[in-house]
Amino acid sequence: MTDKISEQGAQQLDVVVVGAGFAGLYLVHKLRSLGYDVLGLEAAADVGGTWYWNRYPGARCDVESLQYSYSFSEELQQEWRWSERFAPQPEILAYLGHVADRFDLRRSFLFNTRVASARYEESANLWSIATEAGKCFSARFCIMATGNLSVGRIPEFAGLQDFAGEIYHTGNWPHEGVDFTGKRVGVVGTGSSAVQSIPPIAQQAEHLYVFQRTPHFSVPARNGPIEDQYDSEWKRNYPAQRAKARSTRSGVLYDYGTKSALEVDAGEHAVELGRRWEKGGTNFLYAYNDTLRSEASNQISADFVRERIGEIVIDPTVADKLMPKDYPIGTKRICVDTDFYATFNRPNVTLVDVRPSPITGFDQTSLKTADASYQLDAVVFATGFDAMTGALLKMDIVGRNGHSLRDKWAEGPKTYLGLAIAGFPNMFIVTGPGSPSVLSNVVIAIEQHVEWIVDCIEKMEHEGIATIEAEESAQQEWVDHVNDVACQTLYYQANSWFLGANVPGKPRIFMPYVGGFDTYVAKCDDVVRNGYAGFIKTKDQAEAIPA
Ligand code: FAD
Ligand code: NAP
Repeated sequence: MTDKISEQGAQQLDVVVVGAGFAGLYLVHKLRSLGYDVLGLEAAADVGGTWYWNRYPGARCDVESLQYSYSFSEELQQEWRWSERFAPQPEILAYLGHVADRFDLRRSFLFNTRVASARYEESANLWSIATEAGKCFSARFCIMATGNLSVGRIPEFAGLQDFAGEIYHTGNWPHEGVDFTGKRVGVVGTGSSAVQSIPPIAQQAEHLYVFQRTPHFSVPARNGPIEDQYDSEWKRNYPAQRAKARSTRSGVLYDYGTKSALEVDAGEHAVELGRRWEKGGTNFLYAYNDTLRSEASNQISADFVRERIGEIVIDPTVADKLMPKDYPIGTKRICVDTDFYATFNRPNVTLVDVRPSPITGFDQTSLKTADASYQLDAVVFATGFDAMTGALLKMDIVGRNGHSLRDKWAEGPKTYLGLAIAGFPNMFIVTGPGSPSVLSNVVIAIEQHVEWIVDCIEKMEHEGIATIEAEESAQQEWVDHVNDVACQTLYYQANSWFLGANVPGKPRIFMPYVGGFDTYVAKCDDVVRNGYAGFIKTKDQAEAIPA
C-alpha cells in the first residue's frame, strides 16, 4: 500500500480521515503504521485543531497538561516536558507539531483543504469525499475527526457588518496576535474562552466592557510551573497513572469524593471545598459524589463559589451580577481562571449585564443594548461554538439509499456509542455525540475511540468483512440510554451548549454521554467481545440490508 498523496485528486484510498487535531493525528499515525493507505484532509494550514484555531490571549488547557496529552507512546510522554500545570495554547500547539514531526505525519495530510461532502457509493462500497476546492477522493472508510468545538459562532447581530472597528472570534484568532493597547474593547460572553481572555485583554486595553448574559461558575486554576520533581514522579509512574485515569468516570485523575455533600456538616464542607479551591482546577467539582445529581448537594458547592466571588469582587453590585444563580454548578461547563473575578476590580473594566437589556446590534462605532450604546474600537466574540454536531452537519454527508445526515439528525443527533450512525456504513466519528467526549479528558476519549475504530477495521480486514454499520434498533436503544442517564442528573436545568441551547433552533437534546468514561469503555469493549453486538456486518456488499 502507498501513502503518497496525489494533488490531482480522484485517488482511491483505504481510509480518509477528516481533521488534524488530536484525533486526526493519532488516527493517521495508527492506520499508517498498520500499512493502510490513509489520507488526512484538514481545513487549517497545519496540524493542531482546537490549538491551531484558538490563539486568543490566555488560552490554555484546564485538564492538567501531564494528563491532557497522548498516552499511546511511552517514548513521547517521556521526552516531552510540559512547562506549566495548565499549558498555554502555544505550547500545546508546539506539542502537536512535535508529534507530527516525530511520527512524520504531515506527509499524509492535505492542509488548506475543507471537505464539503462525503457520499457513500453503495454499488462500489466506497466513500466519495469532495473538497470545497473540487478535489475528489474515494476510500473504503471515512473517519470524521472534525472536533466537537471546531465551528465557532457569532450570533446574528443587526448592523454588525457596519461596525468599523476590529471584529474577532476567540475560536479563529489572528496568528500574528492582537494589540489592544489604547483601545476600547468589548468582550461578548463569559464562558471559558471569555474567562481566560478577559484578564490579559484588560491588562492591555484602555477600557474593557464585558457583556455578560449569563454568569458562569469559575474556579481558580492556581497555574504555575511544573517542578522537576513532580515531572519525574509522573514520568516514573506514567503507564500506571494513565491506566488509573482510564478507569475513572472522567478520564482524569481527580480526587473523587465518595460521600454525598448531605452526609457531612457545614464545617466539613468549608474545609473540603476550601482545600479544593486552594488546590485549583476542576477537581473542585468532584468533592462530593452527587453534586450533579442532587440539587441540595449542588447548592453547597455553588454557594461556596458565590461566597468567594463576593470576597474577591470589591463592588457588591458587580459581585452580585457575577454570581450565577439560576442553574446548578457544573451543568454549564465549569470555567477555570487566573484572576477572572479580580479583573472586575480594575478601574478600566466595566461589567455590562445584557440579561435585562440585551444586545440589539451594532452601528459604525458602537455596540448597542436595549438601553445604552458603547463606543468600541474592537469587539471580541467569545460566543462559543455550534458544538458537537456543527462540523458534521456543515458537510453534506449522504449515506445508504441517498439519505442525508442533515435529514437523519433533523431532530437531534442519533448515534450508536457516538462512534457510528445507522445508514452510514464504514463511516466512524471520533468522540461523537452519544460518547463521553466533552465530559471527559478529551485526549483520553480520543485515544479510546481511535483504538476501537482501528481495531474494528483490522478485524474487518482479517475476517473479510465488507461493511459494518450500526443497527437502527441498537442505535435507538443507545440514544434512549444516553437520554435516560442525562435525565437522572441536573444537566437539563441549564441552557448549555451540551444541550444545543446556545444555537437558536437547534434541537434541545443532551448530546454527550454522562454515564461515565469507565462505564462507557466497558460497554464498547463488551460490544466487541460480543462480535460487534448492535452492528450489522456483511461479507459481501450485495447482502441485503433494509432501507
Ligand atoms: P479538533 O481539535 O477540533 O480538530 C478538528 C479539526 O477538524 C480542526 O482542525 C478543523 O479545522 C478540522 N475540520 C473540521 N471540519 C472540517 C472539514 N469539513 N474539512 C476539513 N477539516 C475540517 N478538552 C479537554 O479535555 N481539556 C481541555 O483543557 C480543553 N481545553 C479546550 C480549550 C479550548 C479553547 C477549546 C475550544 C476546547 C478545549 N477542549 C479541551 C476540547 C478540545 O476541543 C479537545 O480536547 C481536542 O483538542 C479535540 O481534538 P479533535 O481532534 O477531536 O478536534
Ligand atoms: P461558551 O461556553 O458557549 O460561552 C459563550 C458565551 O457567549 C456565553 O457566556 C454566552 O452566554 C455568550 N453569548 C452567546 N450568545 C450571546 C448573545 N447573543 N448575547 C450575549 N451573550 C451571548 O463558549 P466558550 O467560552 O468558547 O467555551 C466553549 C467550550 O470550549 C467550553 O465550555 C469548554 O469545553 C471549551 N473551552 C475550554 C477552555 C479551557 O479552559 N481549557 C477554554 C475555552 C473553551 P449564555 O451563557 O447566556 O448563552
